[in-house]
Amino acid sequence: MDFSLVLRNGQVIDPSQNINRVMDIAVRDGRIAEIGDGLGSGQVEEDVRGKYVCPGLIDLHGHWWEGSCWGIDPDICLNYGVTTVVDAGTTGFINFPDFRKNQVGGAAIRVLAFVNVSAIGLLTTLVGELEDIRFARPSETARVIDANRDICVGVKLREGAMSGRNGMEALDKALQAAESVRLPLMVHITKGADTRHILPRLRRGDIVTHCLQGRGDGMVSEGGECLLPEAIDARNRGVVFDLGHGAGAFSWAVARRAFERGFYPDTISTDLHRFSVERWAYNMPAVMCKMLHLGMALEDVIRKSTWAPAEVLGRGGELGSLKPGSTADIFVFELEPGQFPLEDTHLRTEYASRRIKPVLTVKGGVTIEPGSYPTRLRELYECDYDLLRFVEQTANPS
Ligand SMILES: [Zn+2]
Repeated sequence: MDFSLVLRNGQVIDPSQNINRVMDIAVRDGRIAEIGDGLGSGQVEEDVRGKYVCPGLIDLHGHWWEGSCWGIDPDICLNYGVTTVVDAGTTGFINFPDFRKNQVGGAAIRVLAFVNVSAIGLLTTLVGELEDIRFARPSETARVIDANRDICVGVKLREGAMSGRNGMEALDKALQAAESVRLPLMVHITKGADTRHILPRLRRGDIVTHCLQGRGDGMVSEGGECLLPEAIDARNRGVVFDLGHGAGAFSWAVARRAFERGFYPDTISTDLHRFSVERWAYNMPAVMCKMLHLGMALEDVIRKSTWAPAEVLGRGGELGSLKPGSTADIFVFELEPGQFPLEDTHLRTEYASRRIKPVLTVKGGVTIEPGSYPTRLRELYECDYDLLRFVEQTANPS
């Protein structure tokens, strides 16, 4: 046998190499060994004729520490073609070690992490993590990142109600932490954020998440007529705009306004957590389908779910690509025609004419069938229902 696994005759879409054609993919020792036509034999052979084959998906924004009210088990993403998930600051320096030991260490999926500049991370939904600025700890945040560089990819900050009146001071401290470890800052921007003053402070490679949220203080002006000039400047400077769907951060109306002005997300991500996984975001292919429905090309949707996040993470030589030598992370899927309801987080449903149906995930050369990792969610309490009611009451369908 030449290879451990060969996927034959799939329609391979790999934006990292500008490939979109029928070919074979061969795996050996957990890495992509060869791609091309009529490759040698494999211990495992899969005929994927008529199906699409792309690099394993990278979800740049989710919450994967089950010690938090928000967190869920990252391994469920393996059912949906996702081979790398990035935790968006669920933990700060206090709880990161527990997250690393008990969640990342035991996970089958690859878990990377932004560390929250707030010492406690997103522990609870009851009080915002930076309503008290004493929780902002740049030096400790930098220290925990520096000691865990194999999985830490930057600093996280949430701007909005959760930072109270401390938004700009919190931004200073988060940038201080990011600068000292020379890694990106990911900033969540929602209603209450001082967006027009935050954007000019961001550096090349920093990330704005929730870029199509529609709750206010977003990238589109209040009347909806234009993009903020600060957003255009930031993009031109190399700031990255991430989708971050979640339970409150995707609006059909805002997305259309942005797309009409040529403003697309640079990276597609779910912001999956306890409150978005059963409704709204569901999984990475479901969020990708929304982008297809809005007219983005399949190749572009795949680029923004594989190669683009790999580059943002500085891991383009290893992840998000089917180049020989890359980690053998692969997603096989079908495009299924039909009528599929897709709801935004402002309670508006549209119907997509096709959906991405997972067929097979390959993680480091190991094949995983859809359904292999059942979803087990913690039970909800009164305060959780309060949060879900708040999301519905503050929806803005216009
Ligand atoms: Zn999030």
